[in-house]
Amino acid sequence: MKHVPMRTCIGCGEERPKASLVRLVRTPEGDIAVDPTGRRPGRGAYLCPSRECFQRARKRRAFSRAFRMEVSEETLVKLEAEWEAYLRAREAEATSDPSGKIYAADAARGSAERGERSAPVGEET
Ligand SMILES: [Zn+2]
Repeated sequence: MKHVPMRTCIGCGEERPKASLVRLVRTPEGDIAVDPTGRRPGRGAYLCPSRECFQRARKRRAFSRAFRMEVSEETLVKLEAEWEAYLRAREAEATSDPSGKIYAADAARGSAERGERSAPVGEET
């Protein structure tokens, strides 16, 4: 049996396989950056790739706790923009890359929420 490393999302508090979470890292400058490779040096924290978990973490002041420093509103605003850009890039990848099935579900849900389509096309035989 393969061991799957687990990490806890600082937004929803759920434990998930590390590979399905996104790492955030504290930079030497005291900023927080999205770390898609998960390899940047520095204190890290993990979030589900969702806007909801980001906002939950923000409300719970989980960033300050996870990074053991006072995270300013300015830092959070910058991080939010970076997070949004990261999620968009990920969604774009999911819709064009056939191997990105896990994330395609999120993108589909997004369009359903906008009322474009609520049911999948029934093409399966
Ligand atoms: Zn989460």
